[in-house]
This record gives sequence, C-alpha cells and structure tokens, in this order.
Amino acid sequence: MSSNPSASRPNPDHATWLKGPEYPCDLPGPGPRRPWHIVLLGPPGVGKGTQADLIVQTFGACQLSTGEIFRNAIAAGLDRASPAMRQALVEMQRGALVPDDLVVEIVRERLRCLSCTQGFLLDGFPRTRSQAEALDGILAEAGTTLDAAVNFMANDAEIITRISGRRVCRACKATINLDISPPRIAGVCDKCGGALFQRDDDKPEVVRNRLVAYHATAKPVLDFYRSKGLLHEIPVGNTPLDTFEKTHKVLLAV
Ligand code: AMP
Repeated sequence: MSSNPSASRPNPDHATWLKGPEYPCDLPGPGPRRPWHIVLLGPPGVGKGTQADLIVQTFGACQLSTGEIFRNAIAAGLDRASPAMRQALVEMQRGALVPDDLVVEIVRERLRCLSCTQGFLLDGFPRTRSQAEALDGILAEAGTTLDAAVNFMANDAEIITRISGRRVCRACKATINLDISPPRIAGVCDKCGGALFQRDDDKPEVVRNRLVAYHATAKPVLDFYRSKGLLHEIPVGNTPLDTFEKTHKVLLAV
C-alpha cells in the first residue's frame, strides 16, 4: 500500500455516484494501490467531508456522499424528483433523516461504485443500524467487505461553532471554515475563485434538528461496528490537518 501524498490524484467526477448507474464513470482502471473500503461516521459538521478529501488525496478511493446525492437532487429541482424523493428532500431540508428504505435503495443502485477496484469512502452512510446492516448485504453482493469504520468525535458545542462558520464553494464544492481557515478574499474560494455560500441545512435551526437526528441513531451504528472490530474513534483536532494526522496513523494500522 502506498500512502505517499505525491501519488495523489484529484477526486474524479462523480457522475455515476450522483446521478445513478446509467451514467458512465471516468475512473481509470485499477491503480497500484490497495482499494480502501471505509465508512466515515460522526456528527454533522465534524469535518467528515474534509477528512474524506484528505484521505482520497493520500490513499486513493472515491468519496461517496449520500448527502451530496440529496443536495444534487435539490439543485436539479424538486419538480423533477419522484414523489418518494420529493418527500425525502422535504425531510432533509428541515434537518431530519431521509427514510432508511429510500437511502438504502439509492446506495444499492450504485453497487458498481461499491465494487470499484479503486475502493470507496462512504461519507454520511450508514446513519442508522438498519442502514449499516443493509450495507453489509450490499457489500456482500458486491463481493467485498469493509476495512474500517472511522468515527470522528466532537461535542455539540464544538459542532455548532464549526457549522456556523462553514462555507462551501459553488464551483469546486471545497468546504472551508471562516474561523479556522478564512478565505483570502471574503466570499471567494481560494482554490478556484468560485463564490462561497452557506448550505441551507447549516442554518442554526436546521443544525439543531440534525444533531437531534444524529444522537437518536448514532450509538447503535457505532455499537454495530465496534462489535465487528472495525470501529476506530478519532477525537477531532484543532485543525483539519491535526485530525488527518490521527486518521492517517489509524488507517496505516488497519
Ligand atoms: P450530510 O451532508 O451527510 O450531513 O447529509 C445532509 C442531509 O441528507 C442529512 O441531514 C439527511 O437529511 C440526508 N441524509 C444524508 N445521508 C443520509 C442517510 N444515510 N440517511 C438518512 N438521511 C441522510
């Protein structure tokens, strides 16, 4: 296995993951690296997306986010969504979890991504015990198993502070935190010059609902992976790189 960041490649286009199995994948064939199969757990706003970016750059694998699928569906327009998806998006917009059946179905449709020789990094799934059990079944169908479930830990006060400072680039989707790494020009992405915005579900009243939803479902998921010997718990550091140092160490030992 290589962990050399100089061997990194950009996260590829996620057409297949975001739009469904009928869309082509732009990934090259199998790389020299071990294909990682990882789930990232932790409360909303803990920094899973940023850690996922760093893991992708260092270890390879595709970052697959269920939240991104739902945000993409909202951006495409509620009127284009199926009735079940429309109902799910309404739930999402108020900070509640989308029903298990729908999320599991969406993930199952992307079996091709989960059996990819480049590996995967699931961010935001599973969020309930029933999703975790369903994922085991889907991976068995894909002929693979998980290497690790990495849980990033922070308390609610830290989460609320982190989320209130979070901004996303409209163009390249990079996430930054105004308190930790403010952009050089206010409102403008350092990486690509795109406009920074606050996600609707990062607004304080929605964040409170998301934390309630998280606390209602997280423990059984953590217990599930702990009982399988797959769980690695990482308290978040002061900066994303502090946290990544710990993540890196954990993954190298897996
Ligand atoms: P995230 O970006 O992962 O925080 O997801 C944003 C929102 O999408 C969540 O607050 C949920 O409403 C919905 N969502 C994403 N993933 C899931 C999931 N695995 N189960 C249920 N709801 C989800």
